[in-house]
Amino acid sequence: MLDNKVTLEAYLRGVASKVGSWRPTGAGGRYNGRVKLSDITGVRIKKVAVVAQVVASSAVAVGAAAVVAATRVASPHNSHSIVEHELEKGTELSVIRLVDLLIERAQAAHASDIHLDPRAGSVVVRLRIDGILQDAHTLPSSIHHEVISRIKILCGLRTDEHQAAQDGRFRITLESALSVDVRVSIVPTYHGENAVLRLLSDQAEEFTLETLGLTPENRAKILRAINKPHGMILATGPTGSGKTTTLYTLVKMLNVPAVSIITVEDPIEYSISGINQIQINPRTGLTFANGLRSILRQDPNIIMVGEIRDTETAGLAVNTALTGHLVLSTLHTNDAPTTLPRLLDMKIEPYLIASTVNIAIGQRLVRRICKQCKEERPMTSAEAGSLSEIMSAELIELPGVFYAGSGCEACAGTGYRGRAGIHEVMEIDNDIREAILHKTSAREIRDVAIRQGMTPLVVDGFHKAAQGLTTIEEVLRTRYE
Ligand SMILES: [Zn+2]
Repeated sequence: MLDNKVTLEAYLRGVASKVGSWRPTGAGGRYNGRVKLSDITGVRIKKVAVVAQVVASSAVAVGAAAVVAATRVASPHNSHSIVEHELEKGTELSVIRLVDLLIERAQAAHASDIHLDPRAGSVVVRLRIDGILQDAHTLPSSIHHEVISRIKILCGLRTDEHQAAQDGRFRITLESALSVDVRVSIVPTYHGENAVLRLLSDQAEEFTLETLGLTPENRAKILRAINKPHGMILATGPTGSGKTTTLYTLVKMLNVPAVSIITVEDPIEYSISGINQIQINPRTGLTFANGLRSILRQDPNIIMVGEIRDTETAGLAVNTALTGHLVLSTLHTNDAPTTLPRLLDMKIEPYLIASTVNIAIGQRLVRRICKQCKEERPMTSAEAGSLSEIMSAELIELPGVFYAGSGCEACAGTGYRGRAGIHEVMEIDNDIREAILHKTSAREIRDVAIRQGMTPLVVDGFHKAAQGLTTIEEVLRTRYE
């Protein structure tokens, strides 16, 4: 087994001495510090592009388990990147700098997460950009342990623990002078420790209801709901549907000196000045429920609870709303109407749901078409088929043309840049209250809501595709989230 500290050059010299075919080159037959593979092997060697796994498995095949194979993934948006440049230094690379560069690169690419996935023979670095994981770099397995150790040191985690899951966070100031909070999760997997780094940028984007993609009708409904002095505002959708961003936008709109706003969150994604934000920590017993209890002793007007995920938190949130507070929270449900049966499942009495919930905002995120390479594109018959299955004919009038990005430098060839929400906003009016009291199904509540003027999620998405904001494909993709 080759030691990490042995340089590639020394390794090749060792190989050469074994093979016996290497002769020093350069003036006077002295070794000039540069070993040519052709000198060792006697064959002309060309550089070729191969995937990292091939390099790794070839290395294993010749018994060089720890050859530092600086490889580059052929992909339009990371070729010649600074990370690859560092990797090309082979055994001379600095792991400290490499970890900094990975974060720098991810931040520049507007990635929300960095995944370090150990595989057989390599570690694949993937970035989540606009909600989609994309392969970005391949690291040699030989530096896997050092990279994980560096991340653990940054978080103050135990570097000698390899069998347990560990969580931590650290703050790093990048070369661009931008500070990033990084939340880290490390878990042992078959091929070694896997790390996921969530980047929490200090400079939260300044969203408004308009830039979130809410239509004028939906904005009006939300404004009515947040102007009530008490009750519940719920953002609903699966993980990664932008619920928290919606809540932050609402909290910022409500943030005036005359009111006291307290949040209990996991994690605190952005800090908002003028608001007391509490990070939950189950290890110290600070759960959403306990956090909410202590918040109430702090005399707030408005409370944001990151997520209602258990009956205890649900009960406390409803009670808080009943006692004259405005409560904002998120629920993990597929759509807005399901919110109400979900609260019933969490042992909330129907009359309490009917009297506290002001509004449920169901949402998904779709990728925006890149403005630089946007072009017209007719709808495919498969898309038309899928759409007619999920939307009744009277709800849609099919325009002849849609749009898509053809892929350019600005969007790294993906055709998309940034994201926007698609929504269905359900105001709880008398008819819906009546339906809740009768414990009607989500489906029936949906029908009542549509009769009262709610635009369903997929129809809102369809309108946005027709306007050229996103593609039909993106709207259809959200159906399966
Ligand atoms: Zn583009």
